[in-house]
Amino acid sequence: MKKILFFVSWIISLGMNAQWSNSQEAKVQDILSQMNIEEKVGQMTQINLDVICEGEIYKLVEPHHIDPDKLKEAIEKYHVGSILNCGGHAYPIAQWHEIISGIHQATLAYQQKHTYESKFVPVLYGIDAIHGANYIMGGTLFPQQLGQAATFNPALVQEAARITAYETRAAGIPWNFSPVLDVGRVPTWSRFFETYGEDPYLCSVLGKSCIKGYQGMFGKDNNGEVDEFHVAACMKHFLGYSGARTGKDRTPAYISDIQLKEIYRPSFQAAIDEGALTVMINSGEINGIPVHANPKILIELLRKEMGFQGMAVTDWEDVIKLVNIHHVAENLKDAVALAVNAGIDMCMVPNDYNFTNLLIELVKEGRVSEARLDESVYRILKLKVQLDLFDNPVPFEKNTYPEKMSEQFQQTAVKTAEESITLLENKKGQMGSLPWTNSLDICVVGNAANQLIYQNGAWSRTWQGTDTIWNDPARLTVFSAIKAQNKGETICLLNQWTETAAKKAKRAVKKSDVILVCLGEKPSTEKPGDIDDLNWDKNERQTIKWALSTGKPVVLVMFENRPRLVNDWVDRCAAVVMAYQPGEWGNIALTNILFGKTNPSGKLPFTYPRYNQSLLTYDHKHSEELDTNFGNKAYNPQWPFGHGLSYSDLTYQNLAITEVKTANGNRKWSVNVEVKNNSNLDAKESVLVYKHDRVASITPHVKKLIDFDKELVKANSVAKYSFEIDETDLMFVGANGQMILEPGVWDIYVGNLSSTIEIKP
Ligand code: BGC
Repeated sequence: MKKILFFVSWIISLGMNAQWSNSQEAKVQDILSQMNIEEKVGQMTQINLDVICEGEIYKLVEPHHIDPDKLKEAIEKYHVGSILNCGGHAYPIAQWHEIISGIHQATLAYQQKHTYESKFVPVLYGIDAIHGANYIMGGTLFPQQLGQAATFNPALVQEAARITAYETRAAGIPWNFSPVLDVGRVPTWSRFFETYGEDPYLCSVLGKSCIKGYQGMFGKDNNGEVDEFHVAACMKHFLGYSGARTGKDRTPAYISDIQLKEIYRPSFQAAIDEGALTVMINSGEINGIPVHANPKILIELLRKEMGFQGMAVTDWEDVIKLVNIHHVAENLKDAVALAVNAGIDMCMVPNDYNFTNLLIELVKEGRVSEARLDESVYRILKLKVQLDLFDNPVPFEKNTYPEKMSEQFQQTAVKTAEESITLLENKKGQMGSLPWTNSLDICVVGNAANQLIYQNGAWSRTWQGTDTIWNDPARLTVFSAIKAQNKGETICLLNQWTETAAKKAKRAVKKSDVILVCLGEKPSTEKPGDIDDLNWDKNERQTIKWALSTGKPVVLVMFENRPRLVNDWVDRCAAVVMAYQPGEWGNIALTNILFGKTNPSGKLPFTYPRYNQSLLTYDHKHSEELDTNFGNKAYNPQWPFGHGLSYSDLTYQNLAITEVKTANGNRKWSVNVEVKNNSNLDAKESVLVYKHDRVASITPHVKKLIDFDKELVKANSVAKYSFEIDETDLMFVGANGQMILEPGVWDIYVGNLSSTIEIKP
């Protein structure tokens, strides 16, 4: 027993950070010391809302209400620590209040009566607010993460996260399963749109901004507490989830130590350093070991090496999956032992109490130590204190959150979409090219022309985002947004391609000056989003072919979960626009861009492939460029990472790199460059700085992003950009697995300019 207590207090002291006060620590220890095994295991149990609602799981009675008996069972019999999700669709804010208050009242009533005299342990509610408060009716929807990444604007990403947190808190929910920090290396993956794209540095910078926005200035001036306008972030899915070899969701990843450190870790490390409070574990396997059963990743790497002190939750049913999907455990009991001993703190069970019952048995049998429970329960209780759930569990009862769903929030969503939408092609001077005057006769066609679900994508009022009954009828579609601004005629045709509809449409389109083809990929995520082919589906291929066959100028706009191939058509389009999934306010943003009210400034946060079998990232190796003629043309994407046009003619000039003296003798360089706007239109330009190591002991990448900055470049003027490069930017993971710096020469690329820096031996 003494040993256990010593272990617990050792772990506890490890978990303390500078902002964590003595009284907070005492409170957690006091509660922990009064808990029995059943109560501790209860804290580690997370159930789905369905479990406590009227009706059956996945078949709840509408409208959804809590079933008092089921709630009582969850609280009184199982001492459940956390509940998640919505019962299949979004709720109005008042319904969320009913749910959260109901849970709170039940917890308070029971625990005040029976357990820790006057103390009670609040239930921690968690939700997926992935691109705005998407499970709250009317919650402001932002572009999906991939679109947010295209803004290359960390301040905007932070503000979108702050608004998401505010509205989530307004509903009474203090924990958000976001951001996705998996790096989007495989463009076929069904969750590609949920990532910040393919570059680890970009994912790190934007991930940090997102954490700041969700949690507030946690860890800096909030004394270790998240206030009632912010939420605990959950960085997910640790680690290597996006690296599946097949590109299909939750299939095996084979990742070398170097890749793990260089590609998949940095975004999580950045989030940990920013104070991210929770982490969700990857449902898949790396090199044959499911991550939920791998203490090397969950303890050695996450805790000891990377310094994470927060709480680790499993993903959905992932302990069960150790038995029925991964086949590493013979039965559920073994699986529970495996996962808990591997280091998970909370189990997203989520639809029964098997985990709870089995873990109690395992502790009683000695297969899981009580000290292991204490470690996890300590982290869970600490999180609840940090969220102030003990003292302020239902802040919405006092605070009306007056800014929720305000015009100001919606304007930020429009701005974020405007800065994300990426102009990929524009045949300036050609009929139909952009921007348009608003007196054209425009024909808007395609499945996404007049249907909101394609703009919103998955995680929009429902999990898969496909059910149109949850669309807000007050929001504009592409067609209605264009119609509202265009003084010429705007017609909408061919939303579903059929031969007959196409024939009719050919006659109707005769009067039009231009056809806007809006192609939308059916929203999906996770397993339902697996695909076999990056080509557009047949109907969408027919639609664009039809439009090109009319002889009218064609502008193509794409709403995609991931890059779908367009090589056959791009050359014949007057312009091509990537809209990502810009959210409900994205159609206003798109229309502003089409009519030139807004100058596009989005840049691709990934490499847009030209062919199904050539899915290289921009930071590939030199050998990947070698083609069949032994030239260097094998890397031939449709559009490279960082590509995005402006209506302004922007030129880069005067790149100057100078070495800066530092007090500690470390090498540092300042990089200055100018962007000249040769047009009468203000522009915003993201300047990307890359390094290229000419010779290295591990084959170098052809280039690697090391910095970026987005500034306003006023019409007919010059904007100055400054960056700093230091030695750490030039390091890479060496053969020994450590970050190393080798003497040599680096090319530094900025736009079409380049210069070099050198470190002599
Ligand atoms: C997803 C997670 C999500 C969780 C809770 C899982 O299926 O992989 O990203 O946070 O469900 O909804």
